Amino acid sequence: QVDIALFQAKDAGRNNISFFDPAWQSAVNERAAMVAAMREGLKSDQFIMFYQEQVDQQGELIGAEALLRWRHPEHGLVSPAEFIPLAEQSAMMPALGDEVLKMSLKQLAHWQQDQDLGSFKLSINLTADQFYAPDFTDRLQSQIKDLELDASRIMLEFTESVLMDNLELARLNIKKLNKLGVHFAIDDFGTGYSSLSYLSQLPIDLLKIDQSFVQQIGVNQKDMAIIKSIVEMAHALGMEVLAEGVETEQQRSYLFSQGCHLYQGYLFARPVPAEEFQLLAHAGDGGSL
Ligand code: C2E
Ligand code: MG
Ligand code: MG
Ligand code: MG
Repeated sequence: QVDIALFQAKDAGRNNISFFDPAWQSAVNERAAMVAAMREGLKSDQFIMFYQEQVDQQGELIGAEALLRWRHPEHGLVSPAEFIPLAEQSAMMPALGDEVLKMSLKQLAHWQQDQDLGSFKLSINLTADQFYAPDFTDRLQSQIKDLELDASRIMLEFTESVLMDNLELARLNIKKLNKLGVHFAIDDFGTGYSSLSYLSQLPIDLLKIDQSFVQQIGVNQKDMAIIKSIVEMAHALGMEVLAEGVETEQQRSYLFSQGCHLYQGYLFARPVPAEEFQLLAHAGDGGSL
């Protein structure tokens, strides 16, 4: 009985709800409940941005990454790792992504008004749905105009897999936005697509070494060799390279010795709400980005 039920449930496909397997049904209900909660959260401003410092070899602030948080009334602060995949699958991400852009750009406009930003840039993560939405570049352009933003302070980041989803459109969008001054970073570099030929053809400014490699510093020689070659390649292609998830001085000093001079990680700062983000304390012209 159970076997047959499971077989039918599987056969029903991803988009159909089947009631044969109680465990599966409750998972479906849970996801549906979470999507509903996300919709509600979007309406009632439960989504906020945190900001994490990015620093150079002198520890000077060169930028920040905007990271989404869900402040749920009962569950507290929910990590994006837990809800972004579901948001993407349930077609929530375009709306949530719009909100991310709106909040992040507004914050950048505030900072731009209030302080001398030096070479500070704000990095914003994009999903494929967002980046490939037909009106994405036009909307971003009008947001930049409305907020009177210096476009060159915006760094858009996405993973290699987002880029490979639609390389032709990516190329068009990147070139269009690059003309306005917007910068581009490849996130989680080293974990995705293995063909590197696209890198030399696109105006990408920054490669972000994935934190899974950084964690292996002093542990796994092969991962350390990968870091070394990512840094060499980035520099050979005229790109900057930043290491994510730097937690220890040992990691920082290995990265430094390999020529990686930009860092983001708990060793320097955790992601914090905008009010806690100390811009003035370090802002300077020392950054190289
Ligand atoms: P990501 O873009 O690679 O962001 C870096 C993640 O590493 C963040 O996780 C950050 O909090 C975490 N991190 C920073 N320093 C350290 C460290 O020293 N050690 C460790 N263990 N972790 C560190 P977070 O904020 O949970 O975000 C997870 C992922 O969710 C992000 O990875 C990104 O892919 C996605 N995400 C976050 N915010 C957004 C957003 O606004 N839009 C989109 N599309 N995706 C987002
Ligand atoms: Mg990122
Ligand atoms: Mg990353
Ligand atoms: Mg990551």
